[in-house]
Amino acid sequence: MKIVVLKFGGTSVGTIKKIKNVANIIVTYRKKKYKVIVVSSAMSGVTNSLVSKSRQISENFSSSEYDVLVSSGEQAACALIAGSLIQKGLKSRSWLAWQIPIITNSEHKNSRINKINKNKITKYLRQGGIPIIAGFQGINKEDRITTIGRGGSDASAIMLAKFFKAERCVIYTDVEGVYSTDPNKLNKAKKIKSISYEEMLEMASLGAKVMQPVSIQDARLNRIDVEVKSSFKKKIGTLITKRTNITSNKIITGITSTQNDAKVTLVGVKDKPGVAASIFKPLSTNSINVDMVVQNISANGKETDLTFTIKNEELNKTKKIILANKNINFRKLLFDKGVSKISIIGVGMITTPGVTFRMFQTLAKKKINIQVISTSEIKISVLINKKDIMKALSALHNEFKLDK
Ligand code: ADP
Ligand code: ASP
Ligand code: MG
Repeated sequence: MKIVVLKFGGTSVGTIKKIKNVANIIVTYRKKKYKVIVVSSAMSGVTNSLVSKSRQISENFSSSEYDVLVSSGEQAACALIAGSLIQKGLKSRSWLAWQIPIITNSEHKNSRINKINKNKITKYLRQGGIPIIAGFQGINKEDRITTIGRGGSDASAIMLAKFFKAERCVIYTDVEGVYSTDPNKLNKAKKIKSISYEEMLEMASLGAKVMQPVSIQDARLNRIDVEVKSSFKKKIGTLITKRTNITSNKIITGITSTQNDAKVTLVGVKDKPGVAASIFKPLSTNSINVDMVVQNISANGKETDLTFTIKNEELNKTKKIILANKNINFRKLLFDKGVSKISIIGVGMITTPGVTFRMFQTLAKKKINIQVISTSEIKISVLINKKDIMKALSALHNEFKLDK
């Protein structure tokens, strides 16, 4: 069977008119004799509104009920797409994860798909049906509904492509593909023809919302080529593929920025073994994701300052945990909610010297102060004042000729 998996994101199914457009796209693949598996997200805004309802009950809303609640948006979108195809005279039906089933591990809110049972869907495809599968959800061994993290329909699509050995996996969204930077932030952002899994994974993890990071990990592990394209414009999109398929000679492929970071500094921490562990252990047990970390060199050999970044929304919880931590001593606790992380990403930097210098010099010329730095083989991230983000984005985009 020649199978294609098509995933439609929230904005692509955001209105009834858009749902009808999705049905037309599906028909074009049918005409090319593909067996089509469709994955849908919830209509835009629906999942956010469900999350906010759970918060109005409690910030510690039961995580198993959270999954039942927030996965419900996909059910409506799938029924609308299936109904729209039936209206066109095609055979179609909606499938929720438990009906297939799509099996995840036991964790709630951030589960991972382990297995997809193929039998029912294969039979349905053979009968000429078009299955419309709810993304973002699964069931665990205890038969409870799970969700696989925000933006998770991308991973649902990639895992379906894996288990059904699909010829193509296409992610339909509201932009024409993956761009050098968010095209909704910077007008001169340029569409990328093809990008390696490694670069896409860094970009997604560092703020490029267009793909969910876990989905790229899954695509990379299973060597699945992913096309990202617009559901509104008929244009070639971006191919996410293995590095050896990429011909671009750019040093930097993309730039990302984050918006809601906070910086925490503990001034005058004792400079002795085990202190950092004592600070971060309770944060980790409370699922607070610590991102950049920097420890200053101790001037007197006794005391040092330790700085790290977290998401803004976790600041209050973090403050409480640090103040309640009896295992650490410090002189002062400082917070800054107005910071952003800007990152340049590209496999080209492995073989090209001087990229770090060019980044720092570009920011210096714009009088942008760098607060924290972190690097990996293919990315450099710096923490800067939030108000400088657009200036930095634009200057770095020019410096690395990303609009060319
Ligand atoms: P969907 O609802 O289709 O899943 P998302 O909102 O999750 O769509 O992702 C698409 C959005 O990602 C775009 O509207 C764009 O603003 C944002 N985005 C951020 N960085 C990039 C980038 N580098 N390239 C393309 N889009 C990006
Ligand atoms: N509807 C879910 C969310 O908003 C999943 C997705 O969009 O992929 O996170
Ligand atoms: Mg998305």
